[in-house]
Amino acid sequence: MNKYDELYRGKAKSVYFTDDPDLLILHFRNDTSAFDGKKIEQLDRKGMVNNKFNGFIMEKLAAAGIPTHFESLLSDEESVVLKLEMIPVECVVRNIAAGSICKRLGVEEGIDLTPPTFEFFLKDDARGDPMINEYHIESFGWAKPEHVAKMKEITFAVNDVLKALFLTGNMLLVDYKLEFGLHKGQVVLGDEFTPDGCRLWDVDTREKLDKDRFRQGLGDVVESYELVGHRLGLNFD
Ligand code: ADP
Ligand code: UDP
Repeated sequence: MNKYDELYRGKAKSVYFTDDPDLLILHFRNDTSAFDGKKIEQLDRKGMVNNKFNGFIMEKLAAAGIPTHFESLLSDEESVVLKLEMIPVECVVRNIAAGSICKRLGVEEGIDLTPPTFEFFLKDDARGDPMINEYHIESFGWAKPEHVAKMKEITFAVNDVLKALFLTGNMLLVDYKLEFGLHKGQVVLGDEFTPDGCRLWDVDTREKLDKDRFRQGLGDVVESYELVGHRLGLNFD
């Protein structure tokens, strides 16, 4: 497959056109960012670990009937994906309170959320990804109501599949962010599912195994991502 011009360079991944107009190449770089791009570092092996981790999770989701953009791994740091018309909205499900919800609502980290809660954020780094609701999405034309309903349905379906999967590795899926796009009019899961975009805690010790290690300067960031993979039976060599 030929790699053509760069379509987009994000904070952690670059996206390239290919010889097939329906397919793109996602390059997972070692760049790691937090706080809307205010903290950025290069972490050795992270691109490779996240690329392989994402491929593994996307295949699990596809096997459970979830429509995803993932086609195949192309190299250590690259995957082939369906080209989507991205919807500029982030879908977040939270099983346990952590991160921004604790600051926003003054709740303690670690509280169980039953039922899990759901939030939309506008993908807009310059404005710090503000929280929005379904009315905003419709009024500003970011997505049609039937697509919003589908995004919610798929995001909750992902929760059922991945909570169970991570539990097999003795991990709690605390929260996660998903992005969607349209392909031939259908809502499809895009972007990535890696420890960069979710929170994972050890069941017994509640040790953080995700990007909070980077945000909070806890160290062993990529080592923890690899440990998460190993606990699920994934090898990175
Ligand atoms: P950010 O844009 O937040 O800095 P990344 O560095 O992860 O994030 O960049 C990847 C970009 O590629 C994101 O803007 C994402 O919306 C976009 N993207 C992900 N999957 C697809 C896809 N299948 N088709 C088109 N764009 C995609
Ligand atoms: N998240 C993400 N990208 C973003 C914002 C959030 O991947 O731009 C993920 C984050 O890693 C966490 C979940 O979405 O797993 C909820 O994030 P939160 O709103 O708590 O924001 P944070 O405090 O992590 O910035």
